[in-house]
Amino acid sequence: MKAYNGDPTRQWMNFSPGPAKLYPGVTAAIQDSLDRGLLSTSHRSDEFSAMSRDTERALRQLFQLPDDYQVFYVASATEAMERMIQNTVRTHSLHVVNGAFSERFYRTAMQLKRRVTKVGLPWGDALDTATLPAPDPSVELVAVTRSETSAGVMVPKAQIVELRKRFPEAILVQDVVSSAPHAPVDWAYVDAAFFSVQKGFGCPSGLAVLFVGPRAMQKAKELDQEGLSIGSHHNFLELAQFAKLYQQPETPNTLGIYLVGRVAQMMLEKGIDTVRQESQERAERIYAYFEAHPNYRPFVRRPEWRSATMAVIEAPALLESLERQGVIVGAGYGAFKDTHIRIANFPAHTMDEVEELLALCEA
Ligand SMILES: *Cc1c(COP(=O)(O)O)cnc(C)c1O
Repeated sequence: MKAYNGDPTRQWMNFSPGPAKLYPGVTAAIQDSLDRGLLSTSHRSDEFSAMSRDTERALRQLFQLPDDYQVFYVASATEAMERMIQNTVRTHSLHVVNGAFSERFYRTAMQLKRRVTKVGLPWGDALDTATLPAPDPSVELVAVTRSETSAGVMVPKAQIVELRKRFPEAILVQDVVSSAPHAPVDWAYVDAAFFSVQKGFGCPSGLAVLFVGPRAMQKAKELDQEGLSIGSHHNFLELAQFAKLYQQPETPNTLGIYLVGRVAQMMLEKGIDTVRQESQERAERIYAYFEAHPNYRPFVRRPEWRSATMAVIEAPALLESLERQGVIVGAGYGAFKDTHIRIANFPAHTMDEVEELLALCEA
């Protein structure tokens, strides 16, 4: 393990977008999974179902999920994008694209040979009234990335509400990978949402949670009845059959399902309002610091568009200097590789760590 600032008793400080710093308690939870013999327990056993039911319960409570929404597990957020297209789009989906991950969702729909409308925004911009797409009743799915991890932008809730109004018949799906659990999902406007666990939940990678509401389930049924392909083992109908037993069609990522449940439970015990409040305070500290910095500045100009959980800063050469001092941040994405750094601000992080990081960014 690399040392922090030459101190061999301390590990690197990790502000990477993902895999992110593990949530405190994950190491102990991994040990618990071994002590319980969970990792060699049959995925068709009562023990597995009981564990998986506990995870589902904690996630439902954390997300205030309505009872008629399903909780599915897939391998990654990227897989969740593909499943959404396959299960809810006959021909036409619309994608708000303002960074690399929303672009990936859009490309997935293209690769699946759907008709795709791209609402492209410059990197660093989120939707606003001027860029909202016009109503189009042929759109079956509207895809929005709540916090674009590549650019550090957050789509404000008002625009989500507006999208729902303009596309009342469409399924509205949110990629909440880096916004969850910080930004609440308002299920009155959202039919489906997904996140992979290696970002805001501070878990090992290889699992994503996909919440699917009744309108999206209904659409999957319709497509299936029309004889269209909705995928094989991970289609919504098959997943729902197994979810009744708190199981999966395949041999699942048992450790991942256990750990995300434990982390959700720890966040509930701490209080999700406290988790959010602390994240907000760290975000304000980070942005205020870089606003005032003589050499560096936040990439996203409009403060109301800045993601609280992913701060993207224009700071050429800062990454190398931090790395030399034992601190990991994310590099800029794509064209911004050498000019941006990305600072994750997830529930696993603390204000003390943020203060240490900022002290190392002094001019
Ligand atoms: C990281 C990320 C993804 C991709 O997650 P995988 O688990 O690697 O598929 C998708 N969307 C957003 C917003 C992300 O931050």
